Amino acid sequence: MIDVAIVGAGFAGLGAAVRLREAGVSNLVIFERANDLGGTWRDNVYPGCRCDVASNLYSFSFAPNPDWSNTYSYQPEIWRYLRDVAAANDLDALIRYGHAVTDVAFDESTSLWRLTTSRGPVLARAVVLAVGALAEPRRPDIAGLESFAGPVLHTASWDAAVEFGGRRVGVIGTGASAIQVVPHLAATAKRLSIFQRTPPWILPHEGHRVPARTRWLYRHLPGPQRLARLRYYLRRELLVLGFVKNPQRMSVGERQALEFLADQIPDPHLRARLTPTYRMGCKRVLLSNDYYPALRRDSVAVITEPIERVVPEGIRTSDGAVHPLDVLVLATGFRVTDHPMGALVRGRAGATVGEALSGDLAHYLGTSFPGFPNLYMLAGPNTGLGHSSIIYMIESQLNYVVDAISIALTRRLLVEPTALAARHWTARVRDQLSSTIWATGCSSWYLTESGLNTTIWPDFTFRFRRATRGFRLRDHRLTPAGQGSVER
Ligand code: NAP
Repeated sequence: MIDVAIVGAGFAGLGAAVRLREAGVSNLVIFERANDLGGTWRDNVYPGCRCDVASNLYSFSFAPNPDWSNTYSYQPEIWRYLRDVAAANDLDALIRYGHAVTDVAFDESTSLWRLTTSRGPVLARAVVLAVGALAEPRRPDIAGLESFAGPVLHTASWDAAVEFGGRRVGVIGTGASAIQVVPHLAATAKRLSIFQRTPPWILPHEGHRVPARTRWLYRHLPGPQRLARLRYYLRRELLVLGFVKNPQRMSVGERQALEFLADQIPDPHLRARLTPTYRMGCKRVLLSNDYYPALRRDSVAVITEPIERVVPEGIRTSDGAVHPLDVLVLATGFRVTDHPMGALVRGRAGATVGEALSGDLAHYLGTSFPGFPNLYMLAGPNTGLGHSSIIYMIESQLNYVVDAISIALTRRLLVEPTALAARHWTARVRDQLSSTIWATGCSSWYLTESGLNTTIWPDFTFRFRRATRGFRLRDHRLTPAGQGSVER
C-alpha cells in the first residue's frame, strides 16, 4: 500500500511529488501511462510547438531555469526542463512508467482508494490526479473521417515519419496548435489547404532569443530572473481588467490585432475571411509572426466553406467542391470538459470527477470534491487561464493539497470538502464568470456542451493563490480513516 498515488508525470505530477516529499511524504508513487515523463510537452512534438506564456513564468518557482534560450520556449526545451527537474529532484525512481490508470474507486470498507492500472491493482491512502487538461486529443466528429485514404495525424500525437514534402496537405482547425504548425507545413507541402471554421484573433509574438549575457546574469545572480518573472507576471495580470472586469476594454487589443492583420494580409478578400467576428479573448488569443505570411503563399488556401465530409481522396465542403489531399492534419484540440479520465474516478456515492468537469458536481478550489476523501485534482475545474501561467495555478493548488494530505496522513483521517463549501466556491466562480469575456457568446473548449464554463479561473491569479493558501478546517469534513487506512 502507498500513501499517495499521483496519476501523471507531467508538470503537475512532478510538481506534486517535489512538494509532497518536501513536506515529509516519502511513500508516494507516480503512475505514468507512457514510457517517458513530460505530459503534453512530451506528446506535442509537431514542428513549431511552443509555449505562448514566457518561460520565466511558465516554470516552477522552485526550479528557475537560467538557460532558457528563448523568452518563449519551444517544446523540446520545455520537455528537457521537465526531465532536468525530475533528475535534480530524484523523481525518476518514483515513476512507474507504462502504467495506465484505468479505474480509481474509493473503497468505503477500507477507507482506501483502489487504482486499477494496466499492470495490476494498487491501494493508496490519497490520490493526486495530475492528468492534465490538454492531454487527450480530440478527433472531430466529421463524417467519413475513417475513410480517408492517406495518413491522418493529430497535432498532439504527431508522427514524424509522415512526409509532407511535395504532397497536398489539409489542416482542420485554426487554433493555437494550427497556427504554429501551418508555417512549417506551408514551407514543405506542394499545396496546403487550411479548413477554418472560426478565424482566431492573432497578435504579434514578442518571443526572442535570450542573449548570452542575460543567461550569464540569471545563472550567477538570482535577483534579475526573479524580477523578470515578477514583471511579466504583473503585466499578464493586467489582462484580467479586460478579460474579467470589463470586456469592452478588449477593443484596444482588437484594434492592434486588426492593424497587424492589415499589415500582414494585403488581399482584402483573404483579410475579410481572417477577420474575427467575436470579442477578443472569448477564445484563446493567439500569438504568431509567421502564420499570416504563410497564408500569403500561392500554394496555401484558406477554406471557409463548412466541411461536409471527408472522402477517401480529400475533403468535400458544403458547396460540393472536393479538395484533393494526400495527408490530413487534425489541429482540433483536446477533450477538456469531457476528459476521459473523469468517468474513471468514482467517489463515495458513485459520483465521478467527470461530473465536476461537466458542471454537475460542485468542486472546492477546483481541486477537491465532496464525497472524494483524500483525492485532489491538479489543473482541475475552473483553474485554467486565458492570460497567464497554469504552473502558477498548479503551485497554488499544491499549497492546499500538501497541507490537506499531510493532515490526513499524520492523523489517519479522511479529509474532504463539505458539500456547502464546495457549493459556495462553485457558485462564486460561476457568478464571476457570467460577466466575463468568456460569456460573450463564442464557442470554445472552455465551455461544456451545455455552454457552462467549467475550465476558466475568472479573476486575478493572486486571488486564487490567497484562496489556496493553507487548509481551512471549517470548509472540510474530517472523519477517522477505517481499518485499512490505519494499518501500515
Ligand atoms: P483549439 O484551440 O481547441 O482549436 C481547435 C481548432 O479546431 C479550432 O479552430 C476549431 O474551430 C477547429 N475544429 C474543431 N473541431 C472542428 C470541426 N469538427 N470542424 C472544423 N473545425 C474544427 O485546439 P488547439 O489549437 O490544440 O489549442 C488548445 C489549447 O492548447 C490552446 O487554447 C492552448 O491553451 C493550448 N496550446 C497552447 C499553445 C501555445 O502555448 N502556443 C500551443 C498549442 C496549444 P472552432 O474555433 O470553430 O471551434
